[in-house]
Amino acid sequence: MQIVKTIEAVRTQVKAWKKQGLSVGLVPTMGFLHEGHKSLIDKAVAENDKVVVSDFVNPTQFAPNEDLESYPRDLEQDARLCEQAGAAILFCPEPSEMYTDRFCTFVDMQGLTEELCGKTRPIHFRGVCTVVSKLFHIVQPDRAYFGQKDAQQLAIIKQMVEDLNFDVQIVGCPIIREADGLAKSSRNTYLDTAQRQAALVLSQAVFMGQKMAENGETSADVIVAKMQKHIEEEPLAKIDYVKAVDAKTMQIVHEMKGTVLVAMAVYIGKTRLIDNFIYEEAK
Ligand code: AMP
Repeated sequence: MQIVKTIEAVRTQVKAWKKQGLSVGLVPTMGFLHEGHKSLIDKAVAENDKVVVSDFVNPTQFAPNEDLESYPRDLEQDARLCEQAGAAILFCPEPSEMYTDRFCTFVDMQGLTEELCGKTRPIHFRGVCTVVSKLFHIVQPDRAYFGQKDAQQLAIIKQMVEDLNFDVQIVGCPIIREADGLAKSSRNTYLDTAQRQAALVLSQAVFMGQKMAENGETSADVIVAKMQKHIEEEPLAKIDYVKAVDAKTMQIVHEMKGTVLVAMAVYIGKTRLIDNFIYEEAK
């Protein structure tokens, strides 16, 4: 596996692969890789001749009050994981490689970005869309892999690809969890022992809501209220939001009709964690 820091080196290698008719998969990440990321890389390796994993803590998706500086990093461990999983390139550029001093072009989506995480993190998805667009241009992948854990991000990327005619197939991958249910996240490392225990309210609420929907509860409001109540019973947890939205448009829904995303963001201490489930109404 090559560890590559420059855009030019990625481009040169990808061009050579394409000349040989090889397919290319891309897995965009912010590093500090865990089994959730690995599941994306495994799928990409199974479905493409060559896989590029990007490892870049993207400054434009963090607001000044957020955790850009403290975001966990471990490039050596990431390289080991990627190599073992069969990636061909680990692309880990410096911020100055991705954003020159003259940088001033952003991809700014409306609508889908305004609910859920977009409400609390108003510039977040502009940064995500911008960096993912740049990665698509740099790597020119046939397929790109994103986790359902960041459900709003996945919906936004799919919409962006459609709107801007990127020639790439977006592949969504299921949420990977710890044995006790907590969704794997690089940010879980911020949690102390008591917070780690308290963080279980997220997945407990997800499983509870999912079960209610599967058992025939048709009111999204009732499901959301029950989930909220469960989280509020945990003193270390503070809800940012628990909401049900149309899985494609990200607009609030009150009934469990069609495909519904029930998503949450919850602070455990200062750490903001997210989780969700998707409900598909039986036809
Ligand atoms: P991040 O490094 O947090 O930006 O995540 C990079 C990619 O990995 C995103 O597409 C995430 O949705 C995905 N991902 C992160 N955690 C998980 C998880 N627990 N299960 C599945 N995918 C995940």
